[in-house]
Amino acid sequence: MDRRRLLRSIPQISKVVERFKDSFPEEVVKRVAREVTQRYRSEIMEGKRESTEDIFEEIERRLKERVKTKLRRVINATGVIISTNLGRAPLHKEVAEFVYEIATGYSNLEYDLLRGERGSRNSLIEDYLRELTGAEAGLVVNNNAGAVFLVLNTLAHGREVVVSRGELVEIGGGFRIPDIMRCSGAVLVEVGTTNRTRISDYESAISENTALLMKVHRSNFYMEGFVGEVSLEELMSLGKKTGIPVYYDGGSGLLLDLGLEGSEVSMRRCVEIGADLVSGSGDKLLGGPQAGIIVGRKDLIDKMKKNPMLRCLRVDKMTLAGLEMTLKLYLEGRHKEIPVIRMLTESEETVKRRAVRLGRILKGLDKLEVRVIKERARPGGGSFPELELPTYCVSLKHEEIEAEELSKILRNSDPPVIGRIKEGRLLLDMRTVSEEEVPLIAGVFRSALGKV
Ligand SMILES: *Cc1c(COP(=O)(O)O)cnc(C)c1O
Repeated sequence: MDRRRLLRSIPQISKVVERFKDSFPEEVVKRVAREVTQRYRSEIMEGKRESTEDIFEEIERRLKERVKTKLRRVINATGVIISTNLGRAPLHKEVAEFVYEIATGYSNLEYDLLRGERGSRNSLIEDYLRELTGAEAGLVVNNNAGAVFLVLNTLAHGREVVVSRGELVEIGGGFRIPDIMRCSGAVLVEVGTTNRTRISDYESAISENTALLMKVHRSNFYMEGFVGEVSLEELMSLGKKTGIPVYYDGGSGLLLDLGLEGSEVSMRRCVEIGADLVSGSGDKLLGGPQAGIIVGRKDLIDKMKKNPMLRCLRVDKMTLAGLEMTLKLYLEGRHKEIPVIRMLTESEETVKRRAVRLGRILKGLDKLEVRVIKERARPGGGSFPELELPTYCVSLKHEEIEAEELSKILRNSDPPVIGRIKEGRLLLDMRTVSEEEVPLIAGVFRSALGKV
């Protein structure tokens, strides 16, 4: 076809609008129609295009892309239970339903229903935190980074905080203990060495200007070999002797001991040991929404409640609703139902059964070689650096599509499926996939591999 005829076959914008105006906003249709027709026009002029037959399809494809939300539900088949990239802890259904209920209406967020006057949003949740951890008081802020900041800023502004050199960690996303310390106005006093710190190191660093003894959970790494650190118990007795409060940044927000080998110490246990303050994240091992949780001595937490910075770190009603309902599940002894805890504690056999189930479905697909293999997974995401969980994966190899390419196709499917690549094969780890997601993954494979 000659260029003139081709150019004439490009539809007018009004035609395109007519066709799509019932399914998409008119302004968006116009914009996309202009973009696509202009592109086709220049491609024709450059001799790169021989046909315009597919133009309506192309416009529709672009329109669908345009109206999709950017934030999307994805299927995590990486085996990493706490993954910051993938949104950390998924919420329990009942928690999400409660968030929905509170978020879509008015609530008593800061209103005391009994007395008919202004209340405090923190008091809604403080009782739960006290009951679950045994602490005198509790406070909720935006995230654990905010919690660390608030503790340091309130108790150690212009004064010294003693920390082991082995615990001056970077958590990821640029959160570094020395940096947050500087921002808070506290003066960092490093003691010990990278691999070994003794209680005498803390002892000799104490001066009349020492405000806090701080211990930080390493979260995302562990050290082996010639190493030594001071336990929380030891630090506590030094704190008692000198009258200096001890603060433990536990990081993961593990509330209770789950009886897992290689587990870190829970917030409840830290309070039992006698830590003056403990903080952790709401959306790591606690399994709730993003939040920072501080529990400990009432006099210290009262000071934080009066810090004007608290206003900058306060949580929204959706967070409070999510956190309250999550904590309620713990109080009712139903915490094994919380997705993160379920994934952590689920038996090998159950994971294997799920892998076999998915494997069986995928075996029906052309040119796809499917195996079910045993693997070891790390829960990850700044928690349990020493814990390895046995897991089962569906291991895939396509006759014509490289693992990298297959991984990309799945990542761009609906819903996106994220796996990992090992030795030229794509692994779908079934520890982080729920039963309901198995048919969804199967559907993604059917439509993705049907197309190629
Ligand atoms: C994850 C983590 C933080 C940061 O917590 P966020 O909730 O992500 O802000 C701080 N300290 C430690 C030890 C952590 O593991």
